[in-house]
Amino acid sequence: MKTIIRILILSIFVLSQSVYAANKTGTVNLKEAVGTMRLDYFHTGNSKQEFFSVDEVVIEPHPWAGNPNQPIDTIPRGKYLFEVFDLKSSKLLYSRSFSSIYGEWEYTGEATRVNRTFHESLRFPAPKAKVQVVLKKRSYSEGFKEIWRTEIDPAHMFVNTGKPRFDGEVFAVIENGDPAKKVDLLIMGDGYSKKESAKFHADVKRLADALFATEPFKSRQQDFNVWAVLPNSDISGISRPSTGVHKDTPLALRYDIFGSERYMLTLDNKSFREIASQAPYEFVEIVANGETYGGGGIYGLYGTTSSDNDWSEYVFIHEFGHHFAGLADEYYASPVAQAMVQGLAEPYEPNVTANTNKNTLKWQQYVKPLTPIPTHWDKEAYDVYSNKYQKRRREIRAQKLPESIMNELFAANSRFQKDLFSKNKYKNEVGLFEGANYEANGYYRSEQNCIMFTRDQNFCHVCSHAIEQIVDLYSK
Ligand SMILES: [Zn+2]
Repeated sequence: MKTIIRILILSIFVLSQSVYAANKTGTVNLKEAVGTMRLDYFHTGNSKQEFFSVDEVVIEPHPWAGNPNQPIDTIPRGKYLFEVFDLKSSKLLYSRSFSSIYGEWEYTGEATRVNRTFHESLRFPAPKAKVQVVLKKRSYSEGFKEIWRTEIDPAHMFVNTGKPRFDGEVFAVIENGDPAKKVDLLIMGDGYSKKESAKFHADVKRLADALFATEPFKSRQQDFNVWAVLPNSDISGISRPSTGVHKDTPLALRYDIFGSERYMLTLDNKSFREIASQAPYEFVEIVANGETYGGGGIYGLYGTTSSDNDWSEYVFIHEFGHHFAGLADEYYASPVAQAMVQGLAEPYEPNVTANTNKNTLKWQQYVKPLTPIPTHWDKEAYDVYSNKYQKRRREIRAQKLPESIMNELFAANSRFQKDLFSKNKYKNEVGLFEGANYEANGYYRSEQNCIMFTRDQNFCHVCSHAIEQIVDLYSK
């Protein structure tokens, strides 16, 4: 078994190296492969101030899997933007927008009381000469403003070129070609014991199949490669502190992030990056082995889901919407940990708005001339049902009832929504539907329903378009 794994790892490594070099010369020349540089740093602060300090600069084992045709981010969707400049010429070599766990945490109550440190990484094509890395943060009134810069000398002796320790499996799930011309999605497992390797293979296939059964991923499947990495573990399941469960799993994925029981992330970015670097990747979904409902998704970082919940496929796709395309939540009824501090400023995400002017609406090209703005939906009936549903949801968790009871509640909720939405004459229209972005009033979504709003497995037109733009950025 071990030998097979080693051969698999080796063949993937050699394949991606050779494809890169062959791209330029037509022949395999490993020396020409562009490396992947990773800047690891600590992001420290509170709600009022923040600091940055370098951890280390790393050359990852795999060549750069990003698209060499589009090094500059033309559609920045996140809270942050980083830019890599050649130090000598000041030429912009690479840029990407992203969001972070810190970026959410600084809006929590905790950030008004204590300092915390989060480990973060920036990945870019390894430069040949010294570069300046500039990190910018979005301000609602002034766009991106610089908050940190650091110089990197790729020839410095502390640039870590060592291959990180790894014990586990790496395999290809879907291979459509050269990583430089494809979107490379990596699916990682956490909380799978060695005996559950076959289960991980089956879970990965089921979740990837669900993603590629959903538009626009269905039509764009040829633009993707899907890889999988499973670090070996003796432990089954992941940590859930609210029920007293703590487990030392390789990726340290856990529930209860920021005190929200269903919010599942890992704060161990160093382990996450070292394990992820075993495969070529641009986007990541981490699957927690278990049945408890939960997930999370951060633009440019990763998405998460549990493997065995009735709604795992939905969560996998919804969180991928956040992680892959920077989509906002279109729901507003569920409690979230971070406060919305920006008031009703126009959100930068493509699928929610505070703007009610039809002529300047960011998705106006999809709105038919006769569709009223704002657009009617039975929000009153929805809200009455939602209040009862949310109350019951809290009771189920407080009483620690079996997951099957929660699954039934979610199923009943979906039936109610489906029935209610089917009665609206604007059910298939793009318009301006009130309630989105965690606010019942003042924020709007573009369609009555979308996977970013309810557990319906379809993206609205606006979200689909936003996803296709990212697919293009990594594959054209
Ligand atoms: Zn949507």
